[in-house]
Amino acid sequence: MPEGLLAGKRGVVFGVANEKSIAWGCAQECAAQGAQLAFNYLGESLEKRVRKLVDEFLPGSPVLNCNVQSDEEIASFFEAIKKEWGTIDFVIHSVAFADREDLKDQYITTPRANFTLALDISAYSLVALAREAAPLMPNGGSVVAMTYYGAEKVVPRYNVMGVAKAALEASARYLANDLGPKGIRVNCISAGPIRTLSASAIAGMRGMLTAAEKVAPMRRNVTQTDVGQTTVFLLSDYSSAITGEVVHVDSGYHVMGLFGFEAE
Ligand code: NAD
Repeated sequence: MPEGLLAGKRGVVFGVANEKSIAWGCAQECAAQGAQLAFNYLGESLEKRVRKLVDEFLPGSPVLNCNVQSDEEIASFFEAIKKEWGTIDFVIHSVAFADREDLKDQYITTPRANFTLALDISAYSLVALAREAAPLMPNGGSVVAMTYYGAEKVVPRYNVMGVAKAALEASARYLANDLGPKGIRVNCISAGPIRTLSASAIAGMRGMLTAAEKVAPMRRNVTQTDVGQTTVFLLSDYSSAITGEVVHVDSGYHVMGLFGFEAE
């Protein structure tokens, strides 16, 4: 019998691109706590890398194609999971995209099509995944999505992604209300900046990392493991009455009000 906070639970992980992905950090922590996992990958270009990673560290875990822009692919993904497992206990949503051209200057220049694309992949996808996952959670469950502080405050150059994250966080609250009566909880983790594939598209990334080290109460950046461990908590029965919440895993950065000045 597996042991740990997630022993006996099964869940799907969306968003592994490589070993630096936050989703991979979450997967490792969940597996260490006894969970069984299934993974998506985005198209053939990422399949080999994701499959290799999963086969090496979590052999036997299902790995299936799913572009979250496609309702058909989402439906087939959950159909395959239903066939394999019958039911699931959790979903990890660690997926986002914005055109890198829109993450380097001002928000005001964002073209309509790029706005729609960023919001579709980064926010609407949570709604679409929750809708397909809920019927597979007859005994309740937990959904966790990754967000960032740029949803709450202006982080220069985070731009359209900040607006998408605001929509993601609001969606999590509305989904929490829709799914609460079924015992399904929906929460977000607001992670501090971490160097990953997606993060490399953000022109202000270096500044974000430096600011956290200088300003955050803990004076350090966070890791995939920090985020993974909080994910385990939110997926486990230890968070049984927490839903619609945004939990900050950012060394406390978001509590600060005065940056760069020592109190006199
Ligand atoms: P990552 O590049 O490793 O992960 C992003 C994932 O999104 C990739 O696996 C990619 O394949 C997937 N994706 C993009 N478009 C998709 C689509 N149409 N269909 C299916 N999958 C798609 O980067 P990451 O930093 O691990 O990002 C994971 C999540 O964490 C994102 O939501 C990101 O916004 C959030 N986040 C990241 C940071 C950071 O600093 N890295 C901070 C806070 C929140």
